[in-house]
Amino acid sequence: MPFKDPIKKKEYERKYYEINKERMKQRAKNWREKNLEKVRQFHREYNRKNKDKLHNYLHNYYLRVKNTEKYKKQTEKSNKSPMHKVYHLHWRERLRFEILSHYSNGTMRCACPPCGESIIEFLELDHINNDGAKQKREGLKSTRLWTWIKKNNFPEGYQVLCANCNRGKYINRGICPHQLLRDKS
Ligand SMILES: [Zn+2]
Ligand SMILES: [Zn+2]
Repeated sequence: MPFKDPIKKKEYERKYYEINKERMKQRAKNWREKNLEKVRQFHREYNRKNKDKLHNYLHNYYLRVKNTEKYKKQTEKSNKSPMHKVYHLHWRERLRFEILSHYSNGTMRCACPPCGESIIEFLELDHINNDGAKQKREGLKSTRLWTWIKKNNFPEGYQVLCANCNRGKYINRGICPHQLLRDKS
């Protein structure tokens, strides 16, 4: 069904999703279960492509934390290399990277077309159908949400947006202002 008006289109998609939610979720789940090896293969592929990016990201993280008391305390007894420590101490950052990598198809960019922000620190996970509030109520946010996603083999329904587009989408009821600007021109 073609829609000129992006708001109407979104509305239609949301309604469709509401009605068919369980069926769609079940179908995606079945697919993932049948294709577990494929899903894993995707990950290996993303991770390989983004190895340097991950390294840079963790290194920046290390530069930020290396002089903090907490970091010094955690590492004083270890004589491993700094990168080794970073890798093990910052499993949360690695998890975050993995999740962002998956949901951006390995691009590590904001999914809003005119934006495409690529600074990883700006990127967030967005609930495509704006049901984030519900998951938050159920206690699924930040690290818990990421662990849940990984444990559940990366379910559908998420995308990567930068903090700006995420905020804009929230204020603008589901559509980033960038998109409205684009549709006008
Ligand atoms: Zn953006
Ligand atoms: Zn945007």
